Amino acid sequence: MRDATEPSPVAAQLARMPQVVEVLLAAHVPDARSRCRGCGLPGTGSAHLAWPCSLWLVADTARRLLATRH
Ligand SMILES: [Zn+2]
Repeated sequence: MRDATEPSPVAAQLARMPQVVEVLLAAHVPDARSRCRGCGLPGTGSAHLAWPCSLWLVADTARRLLATRH
């Protein structure tokens, strides 16, 4: 795993796509049991991933990168 304090290349790339960041942050939100709504597979009975999931973390990093540019 990469050091969490250093933005990953994926996050840096995402920071160029603010709309994608917004969609990810809107989709990957916790439900009442702190499971990610965006990472589950509805109808299959599979367990959702614990939130925050890696996609949300990457999007959150990208959002912070965007914020520092303003
Ligand atoms: Zn997720």
